[in-house]
Amino acid sequence: MIQHSFQNNKPTLYIVSTPIGNLKDMTHRAVEILKEVDYILCEDTRTSKTLLNYHQIDRPLISFHDFNKEEKLEDMINLLKNNHMLALISDAGTPGINDPGYELIKEVIKQGFHVVAIPGASAILAALVSSGLMIQPFTFLGFLPKKQNDKKALLETYVQRKETLVIYESPLRVKKTLEILYQILGNRKLVLARELTKLFETITRTDLEQSHNLDIDTRGEYVILVEGDHEPIIYDLSLEEHVKQIINEGQDEKTAMKTVAKLRGITKSEVYKAFKIKA
Ligand code: SAM
Repeated sequence: MIQHSFQNNKPTLYIVSTPIGNLKDMTHRAVEILKEVDYILCEDTRTSKTLLNYHQIDRPLISFHDFNKEEKLEDMINLLKNNHMLALISDAGTPGINDPGYELIKEVIKQGFHVVAIPGASAILAALVSSGLMIQPFTFLGFLPKKQNDKKALLETYVQRKETLVIYESPLRVKKTLEILYQILGNRKLVLARELTKLFETITRTDLEQSHNLDIDTRGEYVILVEGDHEPIIYDLSLEEHVKQIINEGQDEKTAMKTVAKLRGITKSEVYKAFKIKA
């Protein structure tokens, strides 16, 4: 199926990106399209009203969020069948990116209507390009699973991947997630992008080992970025000196050996042999 987006007037669902904090981050085209469509589908009508008023957009809003999207799907398809033009927005950024949209997009395509993106802000790219970490390849993981074991299991699959990891996280879970990232991935460069585009935007460039010292503000929105699997750092310390240093920092012997193995990208038994023989 080939969609010629602008060569006929087929009913269309526009996927319109809106700001991730700064109301001015709307493209001219986004404003134009939102003024033209018959209905705007949004997550929270009150949140969207603020943006729409700011840009003097006055089109009818339909609430479309995670809790009603299934029952609304058929209504939306019927609107398209009746030749109405629709725009989907979310509370912030690009709809579908950890926001409602995917099922609707799939269904609209299945029914033979157009889906056209009006690109704009998304926290992924703003965070990535300001991080200073390798930009491509990168992998966007969205929100990690909430359960610690599921989180660990997922991260295990990324241990040897070279690409930068981009993760969304709730401010209340950032601290714990950083601990798990360190535990599973070892020491790597870490960037925390907080409150992007807003007055209190903060980009913290550090590493996972140091992250326990960070004072995480539990207000605001965070993107966590971690560098991919890198060449192991060359340590001046011998293996046993390294283990002893980590024990001095407060870890027990067994954990310290594990940590050294992870940091150096070698097996636990290599560390164990060197430490036990020389210690
Ligand atoms: N659709 C949005 C997008 O395109 O980025 C993402 C929506 S998702 C529900 C919300 C998450 O995105 C937040 O928990 C945070 O991880 C990230 N996020 C959104 N806006 C942000 C901002 N201004 N600064 C940092 N992170 C942000």
